[in-house]
Amino acid sequence: MEKENKKSNALKEKLFIKRENGYSRISSEDEKACMAFSEDYKNLLNKAKTEREAVEEAVELLKANGFIEYKRDMKLSAGDRIYRINRGKSVIMSIIGTAPIEEGIRLCAAHIDSPRLDLKQNPLYEDHELALFKTHYYGGIKKYQWTAIPLALHGVIIKADGTTVTVSIGEDENDPVFYVTDLLPHLATEQMTRTGAKLIKGEDLNLLIGSVPFREDECSEAVKLNILNILYEKYGITEADFISSELEAVPAFKARDIGFDRSLIGGYGHDDRCCSYPALRAAVDCKAPVHTVVTVLTDKEETGSDGNTGLCSSYLEFFIYDIAANLGANGRHVLSASECLSADVNAAFDPTFPEVAEKNNCAFINRGVCITKYTGARGKSGTSDASAEYTGRIRRLMDSKDVIWQTGELGKVDMGGGGTVAAYIANLDVDTIDMGVPVLAMHAPYEAISKLDLYMAYKAFSVFIAD
Ligand code: MN
Ligand code: MN
Repeated sequence: MEKENKKSNALKEKLFIKRENGYSRISSEDEKACMAFSEDYKNLLNKAKTEREAVEEAVELLKANGFIEYKRDMKLSAGDRIYRINRGKSVIMSIIGTAPIEEGIRLCAAHIDSPRLDLKQNPLYEDHELALFKTHYYGGIKKYQWTAIPLALHGVIIKADGTTVTVSIGEDENDPVFYVTDLLPHLATEQMTRTGAKLIKGEDLNLLIGSVPFREDECSEAVKLNILNILYEKYGITEADFISSELEAVPAFKARDIGFDRSLIGGYGHDDRCCSYPALRAAVDCKAPVHTVVTVLTDKEETGSDGNTGLCSSYLEFFIYDIAANLGANGRHVLSASECLSADVNAAFDPTFPEVAEKNNCAFINRGVCITKYTGARGKSGTSDASAEYTGRIRRLMDSKDVIWQTGELGKVDMGGGGTVAAYIANLDVDTIDMGVPVLAMHAPYEAISKLDLYMAYKAFSVFIAD
């Protein structure tokens, strides 16, 4: 009996897939690096809550590491480190490889926009002596989650004379914050009978911004006037200037460790900072790659990637064509030979909501970076579905470099679905697969990820671009 057991155990060891907690096999060296990386990441989360701020932080890091802004008349050669900013909301960085660029580039694509509440273009109003901003939510949110939490306001206002005012209020301990109200439970009898989608409606997401009236003389809309007066004195803006503004209300929370063992990180915008920061750091830390490296941190993923700062536009393609031409190559040939990691998050299995996950095919916290062959909804609608061959190549690469990884798709079949930028890059004739960090409570104002998974994303992107 014992003998037979031994045989089956040996066979299982040989034949069964291994799906184990990453802490059972992470090296002490990696574990140490993982903790340091997590501290850098929390810093970034606190500094870059919008796509514009993420671009600024990225460019600062790039400049400090030998990257220079690409100009078309520059002559490129191996080892050059360049970047190009797209309208302040996306950034592409590249390191020219030693191999001819026709052999293809190693592309990493992550997004730096996150769900939030955007101000409408005519946002300010007074109602019963309270001043409020109308908002229009951005990305897929559960609207009720955005009430009764402190919110900060970030963005830009382009004034009538064309000058730019940059706004960031609510992050400093001494700043005021803003607030969307919810009903008290005592009077929520009717509200609590609504379905979740209607619990708080889109037009209920009004930001409370003040209550003191203008007092020098009697007038109508005195609270609104007082707010405008404060804004005029501080920023020199008038009400009409909101028309040409992009102001985003985001959670005012700071990133913190979660748990007695501090193994998780709570923060706003893990989707997709927990992939875009590792992708950026992988590029910055990459020395003399063989293949040309291109990393793009893009905008507008959360609204479907349309618009000239999203990856449905041609800005990435144009950049690759430009550097290909600069190096004497045909851009189309370069793309066809290229490989891409679409660096975006996946849903982590949540033991409180097991019914939406199919346990053999979902991502778990601490099992490492997640490789997702396809995304989409229903019958794989809207996905690129990486080939078995390319999936096999990435799997071999990860195993050969001791990256702790797992595979998972987004929830049960027909439970919902979602997509990433993978399809748009694959449409350029590039081999593409999704790879990213599993997230708990994705798209909530405060999301959670594991430090181990975050570090493994950095390691995965690093070995991919160096290969
Ligand atoms: Mn995402
Ligand atoms: Mn998302």
